[in-house]
Amino acid sequence: MDDILIFGHKNPDTDSICSSLVAEKIASNNGWKAKAVRLGNINKETQFILNYLGIDAPPLISKVEDGQSVILVDHNEFSQSVDNIENAKIEAVTDHHRIANFQTSEPLYYTAKPYGCTCTILYEEFKSYSYMKIEKKEAILMLSAIISDTLLFKSPTCTKHDKTAAEELAKIANIDINTYGLDLLKAGTDLSDFSPYELINIDSKDFVKNTFKFRIAQVNTACINDVLKNKDDIKLAISRSISANNLNLSILLITDIINSDSQAIVLGNDTSVFEQTYNIKLIDDMAFLKGVVSRKKQVAPLLLNNID
Ligand code: MG
Ligand code: MG
Ligand code: MG
Repeated sequence: MDDILIFGHKNPDTDSICSSLVAEKIASNNGWKAKAVRLGNINKETQFILNYLGIDAPPLISKVEDGQSVILVDHNEFSQSVDNIENAKIEAVTDHHRIANFQTSEPLYYTAKPYGCTCTILYEEFKSYSYMKIEKKEAILMLSAIISDTLLFKSPTCTKHDKTAAEELAKIANIDINTYGLDLLKAGTDLSDFSPYELINIDSKDFVKNTFKFRIAQVNTACINDVLKNKDDIKLAISRSISANNLNLSILLITDIINSDSQAIVLGNDTSVFEQTYNIKLIDDMAFLKGVVSRKKQVAPLLLNNID
């Protein structure tokens, strides 16, 4: 039998990569033949962790064969998953997002919890097996993902479960959360050698409601104005991606991880949806969103509610 493939979403973030590696460990501890893979480039934040641990990234895949057994972590929407996911056999899902456009023909394991991070769910699963022990490597993977997804506990997505898990994992890993966490987040804000095209694809997710297709990309920075120096080229790259992908709307969130605000660049034929959602007028295709850092909680659901 072929290995079960475990992967997170396209344009993988730290949680997608760390969750797939941790899920691989849990699966193999349970005697499953499973292998972590990834659906896109490793971002700099995730690379920091891989370097810290001295491990390689999971291998890259772009599509799956019909009937391939898969485990999804950190996503469930097919628009964010591997090509040909419709024809794969989904054995299990572990996720912390809304459930949408998801359908299987056979029964499956499905764990969804509204936590700040998929790795927090995996941490609880790990602990639920009395015969498994969390080793330092897995502790660092999970701790890193929690720090990343919750922006060091500052995101409104962060729950007490995430905080508790991180504290216990930090003990196992013998790591100071704040020192390590700031280094980790800082590694992800180095956007200097990305082209505008690469920048808007570091962390980009597509959403579909009826026939309305929109994209929300996000980058973290310690200084929004640094990113905006390239504003015109970034806008051009977004405009091109709108035509290439037939998007109604495309939003880039430039998130200031120090002050917890975001600058949005908003383009497309249906920017009025964005304006209505936030009761805001775009100026120069931009809007400042005070206190907004979470795509999942503070952007995507609000927009989805305004699309019929
Ligand atoms: Mg993710
Ligand atoms: Mg996540
Ligand atoms: Mg994220």
